[in-house]
Amino acid sequence: MENIERDTLEVDILFVGAGPASLAGALRLRQLINKHNEEHGGALGEITIAVIEKGREIGSHIISGAVMDIRPLEELLPEYKKLGAPLEAEVGEEDVSYLTKRFKIKSPIIPPPLNNHGKYVVSLNKLIRWLGPIVEAADVMLLPEFPGAELLFDGDKVIGVRTGDKGIGKDGQPKDNYSPGADIFAKVTVLGEGARGSLTKKLVQKLDLDEDRNPQVYAVGVKEIWEMPKGRVKPGSVMHTLGYPLPNDTFGGGFVYGMQNDLLDIGLVVGLDYSDPFTDPHRLFNQFKQHPAISKMLEGGRMLHYGAKTIPEGGLLSQPKYYGDGFLIVGDSASFLNSQRLKGIHMAMKTGMLAAETIFEALLAQRYDEAQLKLFAELVKESYVHKELYEVRNFHQAFRHGRRWGLIESGLQYLTKGFGLFGDLQTEAGYERMRKLHVFNRLPKHPGDVPQLEPEKHDNKLTFDKVSDVYRSGTEHDEDQPPHLKVLDFNICVNRCTQEYGNPCQYFCPAAVYEVEEADGGRKPKVNFSNCVHCKTCDIMDPYQIIDWVTPEGGGGPNYINL
Ligand code: SF4
Repeated sequence: MENIERDTLEVDILFVGAGPASLAGALRLRQLINKHNEEHGGALGEITIAVIEKGREIGSHIISGAVMDIRPLEELLPEYKKLGAPLEAEVGEEDVSYLTKRFKIKSPIIPPPLNNHGKYVVSLNKLIRWLGPIVEAADVMLLPEFPGAELLFDGDKVIGVRTGDKGIGKDGQPKDNYSPGADIFAKVTVLGEGARGSLTKKLVQKLDLDEDRNPQVYAVGVKEIWEMPKGRVKPGSVMHTLGYPLPNDTFGGGFVYGMQNDLLDIGLVVGLDYSDPFTDPHRLFNQFKQHPAISKMLEGGRMLHYGAKTIPEGGLLSQPKYYGDGFLIVGDSASFLNSQRLKGIHMAMKTGMLAAETIFEALLAQRYDEAQLKLFAELVKESYVHKELYEVRNFHQAFRHGRRWGLIESGLQYLTKGFGLFGDLQTEAGYERMRKLHVFNRLPKHPGDVPQLEPEKHDNKLTFDKVSDVYRSGTEHDEDQPPHLKVLDFNICVNRCTQEYGNPCQYFCPAAVYEVEEADGGRKPKVNFSNCVHCKTCDIMDPYQIIDWVTPEGGGGPNYINL
């Protein structure tokens, strides 16, 4: 549908994605502008700041049950306690354990990188639902149900974002409620879309922002919130596990955090650079919960909520260039995450705030080009964000030969401030590490057979199938729209992938979106896009890189609560 008349909106500064980076950035920028205007008689004038968000409300797509370093929150809102910041509890009891299939072996000491003394257990979902109204009250336009569909360019300069159309039917034709997306123009566009942001991905490709960098590597976290019998949960208790059910060559581990109101936050993180194409993070999470130590802990409880998200693990060496003409990239979108400490919220907030300081200087100078916005990289370099990332720059790579060697090498890295044995280590993209079926002796026994994982059994008390879990994520999409999962060539799925990898999309998607059905005339892929919880695992892990995740109609997706 070419030549569509679109509404246009001009703002000064546009943030994309209402996560911790964008909200902290927008608020910080408003604070700086207000202070300047007070001190200089309103010299900067009216500056409009907008945040667009694809979710149906601010916070509905936000998931991270986390242990948070609250330094940026203290800096941004020193009165956070008075304002009722929903911090669950200061970290108290800590437990780091190694799991074998039957036993839990507790470490006698908490390894220093995992020591969370002085940090807080939080639900990022609750924190963002609390922060949103504060940001809005500070005169920032928050626009939920506005997915960023495309970046707008003038040459290589980013000049804004086109939001997604509404009311296109699954046949690609406009419906009665059709309303075309708007073009929002801005002096600076800040991308804070989270891990594997769809606009960020295209920008990085278009401008080669990852030239000479390590490819990004990711993990996926699959988690649930459980309500436990009264008095059983200690708010602020933190448990991290290594080992079972992950094989030695798969990066990751489990976590259990105690929250307020008898809630337990439990999940498993699985590195998206595993070799076995039948790796199924959701199935592994079920196995984790069945471990005797974990199932005992969950006895008498009730699962309330489910969700999944990807985490950028590549750190400093995988960061794209995160500034340029008319744009900045912040938070997870630019790989600001400490994978050793499994912490990114403080980096997201802090980089959002440093982006705000950069933009404030740009507003004073009335220049928004790369030379001006480069200040962002300088501010990052002077901050604790860079120091922290530098010291763990090789952490994920240390696990390239498996967990046992990884623990030794990462220990040496800790002692040498990140250098380890070999200095800066290169990586390959996670999907390139996936091996074909024959490597695992999984070739079909009879011609025409398709190797499959054994069906999983669930008791619906401790373990659940993917569809039941998706139901607990509140996910909804209008089914009468074009699928937002663009499989670029279905022939590859049925003719090559089935034989070579056994259609791993069936396994790595934690929301049962992909199925391959036997049909008249052969196998047929089926994409249940309305189940999608927007984790982006498929975009990252598809071995042929033929799945492109794009934003669905605004408001579609999960409705996360307490996650
Ligand atoms: Fe995640 Fe892709 Fe499955 Fe959606 S379809 S839930 S983005 S893996």
